[in-house]
Amino acid sequence: MELDDIFQKARVHVFNIGKFKRGASVFIPGIGIIVGKSFKADKNLLRHEFGHYLQFKKWGAWKFFRHVAKDSFLSCWRSQRKKYVWYRHCDTWTEWSANLLAWDYFGRPDDWNTCVYPLKVNKTRHGASFPAKLKHLEEELPKV
Ligand SMILES: [Zn+2]
Repeated sequence: MELDDIFQKARVHVFNIGKFKRGASVFIPGIGIIVGKSFKADKNLLRHEFGHYLQFKKWGAWKFFRHVAKDSFLSCWRSQRKKYVWYRHCDTWTEWSANLLAWDYFGRPDDWNTCVYPLKVNKTRHGASFPAKLKHLEEELPKV
């Protein structure tokens, strides 16, 4: 079962304070996926975070920390600022590529929530394209 697979490979921890209580989540290599109490069985959210685990496994620690973690963190921060109301964190390359990897890993499930965890985004949106030096990674992603 998917959730068991996620729990075994990436480990899920409940950290029920602050933003985690309101749905924030994060994958930290070596630690696992951290979510708030009411989200520990949120299959869609866990599958997304598992996608970040897959990025780490596939692309390695250096690229993960240097590019994925950094860009994802900045994107998340930006999406919460009032002056960036137009900005969508889920469009960021670190996010939709995590979705694609997890969606493919779990056998392309029909119940994938593409509204919240899109598999395809408008690449002209801010931050949606892979950084130039990582374009080769984008080419290796599963095709929708
Ligand atoms: Zn994410």
